[in-house]
Amino acid sequence: RSNAEKFEFQAEVSRLMDILINSLYSNKDIFLRELISNASDALDKIRFLSLTDKDTLGEGDNAKLEIQIKLDKEKKILSIRDRGIGMTKEDLIKNLGTIAKSGTSAFVEKLQTSGDLNLIGQFGVGFYSVYLVADYVEVISKHNDDKQYVWESKADGAFAISEDTWNEPIGRGTEIRLHLKEEAGEYAEEFKLKELVKRYSEFINFPIHIWASKEVDVEVPADEDQDEDSTESSSKEENEDEEDADKGEDEEEKPKTKTVKETTYEWELLNDVKAIWLRSPKEVTEEEYTKFYNSLAKDFSGEKPLSWSHFTAEGDVEFKAVLYVPPKAPQDLYESYYNSNKSNLKLYVRRVFISDEFDELLPKYLSFLIGLVDSDTLPLNVSREMLQQHSSLRTIKKKLIRKALDMIRKLAEEDPDESTDKEKKEESSPEVDEKRGQYTKFWNEFGKSIKLGIIEDATNRNRLSKLLRFETTKSEGKLVSLDQYISRMKAGQKDFFYITGASKEQLENSPFLERLKKKNYEVIFFTDPVDEYLMQYLMDYEDKKFQNVSKEGLKLGKDSNDKELKESFKDLTKWWKDSLSNDNVDDVKISNRLDNTPCVVVTSKFGWSANMERIMQAQTL
Ligand code: ADP
Ligand code: MG
Repeated sequence: RSNAEKFEFQAEVSRLMDILINSLYSNKDIFLRELISNASDALDKIRFLSLTDKDTLGEGDNAKLEIQIKLDKEKKILSIRDRGIGMTKEDLIKNLGTIAKSGTSAFVEKLQTSGDLNLIGQFGVGFYSVYLVADYVEVISKHNDDKQYVWESKADGAFAISEDTWNEPIGRGTEIRLHLKEEAGEYAEEFKLKELVKRYSEFINFPIHIWASKEVDVEVPADEDQDEDSTESSSKEENEDEEDADKGEDEEEKPKTKTVKETTYEWELLNDVKAIWLRSPKEVTEEEYTKFYNSLAKDFSGEKPLSWSHFTAEGDVEFKAVLYVPPKAPQDLYESYYNSNKSNLKLYVRRVFISDEFDELLPKYLSFLIGLVDSDTLPLNVSREMLQQHSSLRTIKKKLIRKALDMIRKLAEEDPDESTDKEKKEESSPEVDEKRGQYTKFWNEFGKSIKLGIIEDATNRNRLSKLLRFETTKSEGKLVSLDQYISRMKAGQKDFFYITGASKEQLENSPFLERLKKKNYEVIFFTDPVDEYLMQYLMDYEDKKFQNVSKEGLKLGKDSNDKELKESFKDLTKWWKDSLSNDNVDDVKISNRLDNTPCVVVTSKFGWSANMERIMQAQTL
């Protein structure tokens, strides 16, 4: 084309496309749900804009917020179009090729190790999955602010953009034309496309239509000089005509008709746009919740969410919400913890999608949750910025946190492995067994989030502390809660004992534990770097304090003969303190914490523990 401008794909994008176009991966179906998901995003965007500016939608067909799928069987072209926001020339250049998303290289890496494409949508590169089934793709797009353009590429490292002077004007939105590969013939079959839409795009909030062929009976005038023809027509017609048979004989001059089969096309609706969150939780099946999770999270790995909570909040601020605990933490959950405010909650106002970039809905430490909030109280026709200031958001947030923590607590309560009751622990039935071990799974994936919550959220600190798990000198490889620890405390024990370090193995032989072990006290192992910070915030729980056994002043219940010991060793401790200069130690004291080891160096009560020194050193290196 004479007016085409050529561009090169950014290197990582090009690599990804190379892998995709040559992929022997068998599940190529995913491209369709990625395209539909993009179409749905584009529709959400234009609908949102139209809230404040009615004219953006235009009129007639343009105002219909829908998705259309069409097939050209002969040419093997599959097109998916939407009447969404569309892309300007700039958008096409940036979004489809020159600016790589941060997830691109992470996804390429993942592909090379696992070969699993199912999570492509989560990495923000879903569009390129078109090259699983097509070797040539055209994107025709019209944005309100620009002319109609065509983007095209054969995945050969480059793409071209031209002003569209040859296709019909599409009004507004985007049409993706896939020129299917030889071996992707199955996607040129209507029934296959219908099945895929039904399977994967059930929860898309806009109608999806397919240009479907239909065999219909049509009445055509019978050929006049072949009167007998009427008897050859389909049996169906004969039956229908039976009643009229007598009449027909009388009125011979009436023109005779016959029925023939004809193929016609019409738009067939494939989904029924169900807002699952508006229904009563009792009416929604487990399978529906799972599928809704898949579509919200763009997680089609086949793993079920660990848990969910679907509820309605009433009162001053009304909203409905569905929250999910995903089966796995995303790879970068904690890497990007402090510098991103990525939210996984979609905000709707009266069924209209507003944003998925609101960090006011949940605190950072709960950003691993996936879900949706639909509020009736928030105003519809204001900008996102204004909405961000709305006072109802604080109430929504408070309730969401409460519900989220309840849901996590239930995960533990329903897990038979978590029970202290022997009978409950050993109970077995399909339902109970399904829940066995689920809290440990949760803890392994998201335990750090709970700890960060204790550090950051003073209001819910106690609730979060209940969710804490750790290993101890007596846990035998299992996880213990604070409540369990309390239930096993020795008579007269007032505090929790803990020790921090790099690993359990290293701590197990620590001289600090000798005496406590001998006296049968349980000691908590805190081995995660975040634990040092955690212990600065976790002051007490159920009126019990936390004592670091490697710090000065450890008290194990009653110390009866302390005074006498101090007196009798006075000379020794004095000699010792004088021998070691004051720069080296603060004090030398008699203590009852040891058993076999003659002496230990401990940290002062208010100083950093040895482990904290280690962590700080690692950070400054
Ligand atoms: P993601 O959807 O996660 O952003 P994709 O690779 O699926 O990643 O799409 C890349 C970008 O291309 C989108 O963010 C969007 O800006 C643009 N895009 C894709 N399809 C459409 C469409 N149908 N309408 C408008 N923009 C689109
Ligand atoms: Mg996408």
